Amino acid sequence: MFWRKKKKQKFFFKANDDVLSFCQCENAPAMSEAQLDCPWCGCGWMIACSKCTKSFVFAEVRETDIPLIELGRREAAARGLKTVTERDIAEWAEGMAETLDKFEVGDIVVYLDGAYWTVDSTDVQFDGYYASHKFDRLPHAEALDDQPRLRQILGEKQYWFDRKRPDRE
Ligand SMILES: [Zn+2]
Ligand SMILES: [Zn+2]
Repeated sequence: MFWRKKKKQKFFFKANDDVLSFCQCENAPAMSEAQLDCPWCGCGWMIACSKCTKSFVFAEVRETDIPLIELGRREAAARGLKTVTERDIAEWAEGMAETLDKFEVGDIVVYLDGAYWTVDSTDVQFDGYYASHKFDRLPHAEALDDQPRLRQILGEKQYWFDRKRPDRE
């Protein structure tokens, strides 16, 4: 249909440097999660920048003209992945589309242990990649009024050990 505008779609972009940020870029697209076995270091509760690969806390859902497939290719390049196939990227794009589907443009989003949440989410209870969590309000949101709180909770190994999922050895 020739009247159809170029397709726009949603993606996570860096929102700001609030609370904690190692990234100095502005408006950069986020990278998808790459959580390791050390979620307390930040990989379990921060979001990485696709330009400098450093982390920040708050992402905003924005519209972009860049297709997900292209964002996936750029991310693979930024991560230095040499063996990624077009099929891997297509699967990544499909997974991202599903994740993004839950959000509206303008939502401020944070990451925790395998899942993305709007920062004002309440009664957050779920089993993440590493641990089982239960929060009235997310520590990311509480940290907006009490900056150290985020690290005091999610930056502590003990928090994660105490809540480790039983199916993780
Ligand atoms: Zn880590
Ligand atoms: Zn950056």
